[in-house]
Amino acid sequence: MTGTLKATVIYPVANSLVEARDSNFIFGSVGSGKAQLWINGAPVAVAPNGAFLAWLPVPAVDSPRYDIVAVSGADTARLEQPVRLKPPIVKLATDGSLLYDTASVLPGSRLALRDDDTVRVSVRTAPNASVVWRGDAGAAQALTAAGTSFAADMPARMLRARTELLLARGSDTIHVAVPPVGVALARQWATLGVDSAGADASDEELIGRPIPGGTYKWFLLPGTPLEVTGRNGDFSRVRLDSNLEIWVSTADLHALPGSWLPAKRVAGNARLVSQAEWVDLVVPMAARPPYFVDESTNELTVTLYDTMINTDIVNYGANDSLVREAKWTQDASDRGHFTLSLSQPAYGYLAFWQNGSFVLRVRRPPRIDASSPLRGLTIAIDPGHPPIGATGPTGLYEAVPTLAIGLDVQQMLESRGAKVFLTRTTADPVALGDRPIMARKANANALVSIHLNALPDGINPFTSNGTGAYYFRSQSVPLARELQRAMVSRMGLRNLGINYDNLRLARPTWMPAVLCEGAFLMIPEQENALRTPEFQKLYAAAIVDGLESYFRSLSAR
Ligand SMILES: [Zn+2]
Repeated sequence: MTGTLKATVIYPVANSLVEARDSNFIFGSVGSGKAQLWINGAPVAVAPNGAFLAWLPVPAVDSPRYDIVAVSGADTARLEQPVRLKPPIVKLATDGSLLYDTASVLPGSRLALRDDDTVRVSVRTAPNASVVWRGDAGAAQALTAAGTSFAADMPARMLRARTELLLARGSDTIHVAVPPVGVALARQWATLGVDSAGADASDEELIGRPIPGGTYKWFLLPGTPLEVTGRNGDFSRVRLDSNLEIWVSTADLHALPGSWLPAKRVAGNARLVSQAEWVDLVVPMAARPPYFVDESTNELTVTLYDTMINTDIVNYGANDSLVREAKWTQDASDRGHFTLSLSQPAYGYLAFWQNGSFVLRVRRPPRIDASSPLRGLTIAIDPGHPPIGATGPTGLYEAVPTLAIGLDVQQMLESRGAKVFLTRTTADPVALGDRPIMARKANANALVSIHLNALPDGINPFTSNGTGAYYFRSQSVPLARELQRAMVSRMGLRNLGINYDNLRLARPTWMPAVLCEGAFLMIPEQENALRTPEFQKLYAAAIVDGLESYFRSLSAR
């Protein structure tokens, strides 16, 4: 392409913060494939369509910008792209004046914990300094050094008042205030989320995390009463049972009156209720339990926290082809679990509360005709974005090819006898959180989300691009493997493997759900290919191949 010479930077956006400290990528276009390009003095390759992608040292602190010079014949185009840089890392030298890293001081503010909770008190300073914590009435404790890190674990009760760290080296001293740790009162109860029941309630994500701001591990029922035992910033610690405390968003909690008494959860006689499309395990008890469902190949296990199981009878109803056996175990005085042995691998489930019972609804896999595996199935296809999404060097916005690919998938699936539910068919935005709900309401047999990948700052795109698939539930692993295999085979890009990842479109439980990142929009050749119907059809055909082999594998069982 020999268009007009004009330098455009797509990324990093002007005046944005570059998160990397050593090297980072920059990409955009110079408008002409014939141009020569230099960025901060380094020569950069220009693709035939004028796109460029460079991996360069992060600009110097005293000149935080990219100077772009493109030359074509007698024409020169210049662009100055200013960026912001992270503050330099504090050098904690063994001489000069004593310094410490102000961002390293722990504990942080807005903590509330029990007296006997352990709190890490720490700071980074020069390795030849000494650090002593000092409290009221002469209380003191030396922090243990490991290089530049100094730390001590102390009970929260010692940190109720404003205390300090005394950093010293020779006559050089620094006093650093330690934020006081607030009190977590005993027997504070709250419900998580707003009381709602039935299978639809499973659409609300009430997330439990192993640490404040951490990953998503537990998904609890709206209206579950929980004891609140601590706070850290915007997160609250809640007790699931005597051996497990997790963190939830404080905004999700609704305080119960101080006089409120928790119901004792005792699981009564259970039953299996068979329907054409699913089997319900129904476990009556006095209040919604915190729970965790674990899928393994031919089993579903549901752990019930703060629950004593006293199930004398499990009624199986009519002889069921899916659930071979339901059994239960009490693991501790306030934790038990039910295990469902299945005749086939776990395929989908919903956990919800209904009429005074905890219900685990186990979905039957669809009946598959091996010669036409997709016939009669409903497949939800989610063309990724808008809102947000990546943009390539010449301005191709992720949501444009994902929709074109999604429409190709629809046409190919329909020609194989499947029904297709698309989460969007236009350029209008659809909220991320609505998409999995739409797929469940469509009763889809599988959900595939179509995306194009981008990298975070500081990762070399030349060595890290390719094709990946993302799952979150164990039941989605076989579909993720089939989609990945088909994408690599059809599109011929580097195989980045499948990934367990906490993504909204990978989290549904009612069907196998996989998010595909088939190619990288920031790579000039891949962006260019993604503009073509031919490559879009390769991506689409790969999704269809992957779905077809996955469902064919179900017919063999
Ligand atoms: Zn995306």
